Formats: sequence, C-alpha cells, structure tokens
Amino acid sequence: MTLDLAALNAAQRRAVEQTDGPLLVLAGAGSGKTRTLTYRIANILARGRASPHSILAVTFTRKAAWEMRRRLAELVGNAAEDVTSTTFHAFAFKLLSAEGASLGFNPAKLKVVGGGEARQLLRRAVKDAGLEHAPLTFDEIARVIDRAKDNLYAPESFAQVKDDFFEEAIAKVYARYQHLLKERNAVDYGDLVRLAVQILQRNANLLTFYQNLFRYVSIDEFQDTSFAQYQLVRCLVWGHKNLCCVGSPVQTIYSWRGADINNILGRFHADFPGAPVVGLTDNYRSTATILDAAQAVVSNLPYRDQDLRAVAAGAGEPVRYAALSDERNEAQFIVAEIARLHAEHDVRYEDIAVLYRTRPQGRVIEQALMKRDLPYTLVGDAKFFERREVRDLVAYLRVCYDITDAQALQRVVNTPPRGLGQSALEKLQGTDDEFSFGALSGLDQRADLPPKIKQTAQAFADLLFNVLEPAARTLPLLAFFDFVLERAGYTAWLEQGNDAKQRAANVRILRPVVERYDGPQYAHNALAMFLADIATMDDDDLPREANGVTLATVHAVKGLEFPVVFVAGLEEEIFPHVRSLKMPAALEEEQRLVYVAMTRAQRDLYLTWARARATPHGDGEAREHAPSRFLARIPRALMQRCS
Ligand code: ATP
Ligand code: MG
Repeated sequence: MTLDLAALNAAQRRAVEQTDGPLLVLAGAGSGKTRTLTYRIANILARGRASPHSILAVTFTRKAAWEMRRRLAELVGNAAEDVTSTTFHAFAFKLLSAEGASLGFNPAKLKVVGGGEARQLLRRAVKDAGLEHAPLTFDEIARVIDRAKDNLYAPESFAQVKDDFFEEAIAKVYARYQHLLKERNAVDYGDLVRLAVQILQRNANLLTFYQNLFRYVSIDEFQDTSFAQYQLVRCLVWGHKNLCCVGSPVQTIYSWRGADINNILGRFHADFPGAPVVGLTDNYRSTATILDAAQAVVSNLPYRDQDLRAVAAGAGEPVRYAALSDERNEAQFIVAEIARLHAEHDVRYEDIAVLYRTRPQGRVIEQALMKRDLPYTLVGDAKFFERREVRDLVAYLRVCYDITDAQALQRVVNTPPRGLGQSALEKLQGTDDEFSFGALSGLDQRADLPPKIKQTAQAFADLLFNVLEPAARTLPLLAFFDFVLERAGYTAWLEQGNDAKQRAANVRILRPVVERYDGPQYAHNALAMFLADIATMDDDDLPREANGVTLATVHAVKGLEFPVVFVAGLEEEIFPHVRSLKMPAALEEEQRLVYVAMTRAQRDLYLTWARARATPHGDGEAREHAPSRFLARIPRALMQRCS
C-alpha cells in the first residue's frame, strides 16, 4: 500500500514521515494538525510499521474520534476499522472493564455514573460526612474533588496540609463518595482515567502488556489534556516512546475542566528531551484577514504558536463588526445577514455558524431564526441525555446489562405503565431496603401477594429474564435496541401520548448513537461501551446532522470549520465572561477562546456586540456593557463596520 503525500506541505510531510519515537507538532489553528495526525497514522500503516490493532489515536470528543476513523478509512480503507480511535475516557473505561478486578471491582459489570446520579451520590457523601452545613458549597466540593481526580490524588493522598479544615473536610467527603461508588460497582467520569493510571502503575505485567499492545500512540488537541490523561499516555508509551502529540497552546480552552497547559508547554519536553518539534506555518482554513485578526487577539501571549500564513484563501473581505442596541437586535441583525447571504450569494445555511460564549445566548438567536423560518441546529442546548425517553431506554439497556442495577430496574418496571405502581412495588419489595431484582424472583412461592400483582409481576419478570436479558447477549446492539422498544411495549406507548411526535423524535436521535457501537471494534462489549459512554456524554457528542445554521458555544466547535462564522456577544462580562474578570488566568483563557472562535471561519467572519443585554442568569433587567476588550486588539485596518 502506498500513501500519496502530495496533499501535504513540507513541514506536514516531515511530521508524517517521522513515524518512530516522540514527536510534538505545535501549531496554530487551521494549520492541518488533525490532517497531519491522520496522515501520519495512515503512513505508519502504509509502511507496515505496525498492524492497525496496535495503533491508538486519542481525540477530544467521541465525535472527533468517529471523524478520525472516517478520514483514516478514506486513506487506508478497511484497516481503519481496527485502529483504536477513541477518547481518553472511553479508553480508560475499556481498560477498567478488562482489568478492574485488581482494584476490587467486578469489571464485567462496571458502571459509570454521570450527571444527576453522580451528584446524588456526592450529596449523600456530603451528608454522611456531616458537612451539609459546612462553609463550603456543594458545587465547590464537587469541583475540588473533580480537580483532585484530574491530578491523580486518591482520597488517602488528598489532604496535604495537616489540620487544614478545608482539606480534611473534603478528603472525608471524597473517601465516602468513593465508598458509595464502589458499593455500586461504579466509577464516575473523573475516576476513569485516574484509576486506569493506578492499575497500570501498580501492576508491572499489565503495564508491559498494554505497552506491547499499543505500539504507536497519537493525541490530538494535546493542549487540553489533564495531568492524569498525560500520565496515562506517558505510562503507555514509556517503553517504545512512539508518541505523537499535536496541539496548540493558544487554543487551551478547557482549564476549567481540568486541562493543564503545562503538558504541552513543559512536561512533554521534560519527559522526552530532544524530541523533535515540528511547527506548521501555513494555514489552509481562513483568509489572511481573518487569520491576522485572530492572531492579533492573542499576540501578547508568550506561548502563542508561531504566526501562520494564510495560503489557501487569499486576503478575503474585512472582518465585519456590528454594534447593536440589545441582544434582540443583535439576533435580528445576524439573522437578516444570514438571509441576505443565502439569497444574494447562494450561501448554504449549513455553511454558517453562530458562536457565543454561554448557552442561553443561543436561545435568543434561535428565536430570531425561528421567526424567519430559517433552518438551524442548536448544538448542545437540549439536555438531550436527560430527556425522559432517553433515560427510560438507557435504563432498559442498563438492567439488561446488569440485572442487579436496582435504579435502572425501578425506572423501567412500570414504564410503560403495566400495573406495577408504587404500592405494588412496596408489596413486592416486602422487607427489602429497595425494590430490586430479588423481588421479581420466586414469585410463585409468595403467598403474601394479591394474585393480580403476582400475575403482573410474573409477566414482567418473564419479559425481563427470559426475553430481554438473553437478547442482550445475542443480538447486535442496534437490533437489541429496536427489540427492546418493541417487546417492552415502549413504541406502542409512545405513540399514544399527546407529545408523541417530540418523544418519537428523541428516540430517533438516540438510535444513530446506539448504531455507532455496532462496529467491529466493539464486538465483545458494545453494550458495556455504550452504557459507559452514554453516562458521560453531553450534547456536544451527538452526531450533528448537517441541517441548517449551526448555533453553538465556542467550546463545542473545537477543531471544526465553517465558511461563514458569526461570533456574537463580544462584550465585557459576557465574553470575557463575568466570572473571569478578576482572575488573570481565567481572563487569559477567555482570550484564547476568542481566538478559537474566530479561527473557525474560513471566508467570512462577523463580530457582534450589544450595548445592553438582559443577563441570562440575573433578574432579567437589561444591563449595559462595554465592547469586549478583545475587540480592541484587532487592527482597525482589518475591520469594517456594518451596523
Ligand atoms: P484546529 O487547530 O482548529 O484543530 P488543525 O490545525 O487541526 O485546526 P485541520 O482541521 O487539520 O487543522 O486543517 C484545516 C483545514 O485545512 C482542513 O480543511 C484541512 O483539510 C485543510 N488542510 C490542511 N493541510 C492542508 C494541505 N496541505 N493542503 C490542503 N488543505 C489542507
Ligand atoms: Mg484539529
């Protein structure tokens, strides 16, 4: 197999041809880092350096992992299917669900709790530790524990300063929380990578096994890895040192979720002294004007990437900016401009994105689009994974995966309603603490039950134990999903409700997510992987249908590009966010975030701000704002005012 490297520039080719040993590719936005990484893996395969099974590529989101595999398939065909292209969390889950026994888990039934369920457990831990009335808010405690996990602190090693009330209190909650998780044979999102590192560090044989399994490791968006994620990779590659990291320090935008910019700025160099660093200097995404404007925004940051040169798109039009009186007028301006671009210049709606700092801003723009009947997709605002149908169906899959999962069982036992309401469950439960699968076993021996309840419960037990659960073990995942919908009577029930259309639509969105797990790479544990992923997915991970204008937060469009981009709400207290104003490090992250937003644009970039805006979480009163300080960093010569 030969790979045509003509579609790369000289620096990219250098990185692609350097297949062995450590390599860092450092470059700004749109310089082809992701493309280079993909070609580099293809090259390793084409040269026969390794089999697809021994290649691991780690990306930031599941969507990016799927996209990476798709692009690889274009270059190398079927071999792409056997490459492990995944996120840190999915990778760590796979490791734990194979090896978790050494930490005292039942790995085959390991669960990841996320969202509301994790918070519920943490609340209980706070209560059990007697800290409900401590001068710490619940959110503070949650954040500190999350960060501790990102930095590999176990509960035992968390309290560093003796007699420090704050540290000792949190250590107590942390320990209790881990205990509650363990009782449920569960981990939370933050545990995944932390415990994977722990397993590898404590078990030399296993470590050697995984080091031999993955001979070539690559990481995209390296700037946004956490300390724990970096240590996981470091363990894995320590023998062969075949590690390629690509990233852009100036695009670090997830510090608030544990990203540690020091991985890319310092640790990599310290661990792999003398490793080659390839800088890419050509930008293929944006016009020179857009690129120069974006680079001006971050020109004072000492670690900014080397300045890029726009090579593909010419000078382009000036960056347009508009000052509007309030957020409604801002939305109207944006929507009118979208309609004009579509009518006069044939711009497809799919080629346009409107980006903003906080989710509530998206709704105002959504309303304006709706009013004019323009198609759009609102990314990430829907709390999709918290919707009833999604939670119901996930609960069905969970209980089929692990019959002892009492929470999931309680959710499905009377959904759709089948005469097993609260009082029936209490009777079935008898003296047990909670309703669990035990209450459905040995029903014919139970003289204490009214015949009607006994009969209904028996029918449900038959369905669960004899129909659904066995099917989970034999059917491919999507087929199983459809089977559950049908046999549990869920579809029929959905069709009866008065919001049937919306609810059926939710099921339709979930289906392609399930389908992703039918690939050969999940052959043995599709259901387990799906459940682990779903517990930690957020809306940004949903496959985005190319449907109309994209409305998204800047965080959600990492790595993506659009011909036309609007960045809205460029005001003090909005972008930069009000919470960042007093913290230099946070303010700097806002600055990087503006850079990320602007560099999503290929051809046309609009920057808008409103003089007054009803603060989304405030009292609804309009507040006046000055234009964002970052606007002032852009040379006037690159801008044109259009309102
Ligand atoms: P980001 O920092 O935003 O993640 P990136 O550095 O990963 O960006 P890519 O997304 O890989 O950049 O590439 C940006 C665009 O430029 C893509 O459309 C890609 O196909 C194109 N591109 C990259 N390199 C080349 C090249 N040598 N020739 C033509 N097009 C290229
Ligand atoms: Mg990229």
